Amino acid sequence: MILILLGPPGAGKGTQAAHIVEKYGVPQLSTGDMLRTAVAAETPVGLKAKAVMDSGNLVSDDIVAAIVEERIEADDCEPGFLLDGFPRTVAQAEMLDAMLEKKGRSLDAVIELRVDEEALLDRLRNRIAETKARGEEVRKDDNEETFKHRLKVYKEQTAPLIPYYEKQGKLAVLDGMGSIEAVSAEIDAILGEIGR
Ligand code: ADP
Repeated sequence: MILILLGPPGAGKGTQAAHIVEKYGVPQLSTGDMLRTAVAAETPVGLKAKAVMDSGNLVSDDIVAAIVEERIEADDCEPGFLLDGFPRTVAQAEMLDAMLEKKGRSLDAVIELRVDEEALLDRLRNRIAETKARGEEVRKDDNEETFKHRLKVYKEQTAPLIPYYEKQGKLAVLDGMGSIEAVSAEIDAILGEIGR
């Protein structure tokens, strides 16, 4: 099962990814997490990516695609995997299609979490408050100004993936405004269809 979770920042991709990992046993491949690890470890990729990520812009397609291509070679990706935060541009989607084709694999579904834009800022404010309450450090790009920029980048560069995957007949659109459990249930319904 090869899946993509698509949606703007704050749509709940990470939360639903955890559900999918637990229930379906496929690993979550979050390019945001992988890049943050590279930044923390000060690898050459991390050193290049840091400023771009802090400003809410996208890291170059080639860098991200290379990270993903390497990761999906790992044994744990054999039964399938869940992509979270990749692809984020049409060029990345084309690279992914080529990668999968080369390996004789194919994408099963793209799950788009659709949410109201106004709700996203409220969610961000909650996320910041909760992170602080746990005594953890808030992500550098989790402030209102950078978040608004990330939203703009999503609309301009990532939203074109919606018609891209619609044309491939792979797109499932979900209402991401329901409760966590309600959204998980909708995902289960879609994945049940695929399993059939
Ligand atoms: P979000 O919480 O907005 O979904 P992520 O954790 O997925 O954010 O990503 C954080 C940042 O990492 C992005 O703003 C971008 O700079 C970089 N990044 C993550 N995935 C990609 C990608 N596929 N292409 C380019 N940049 C990426």
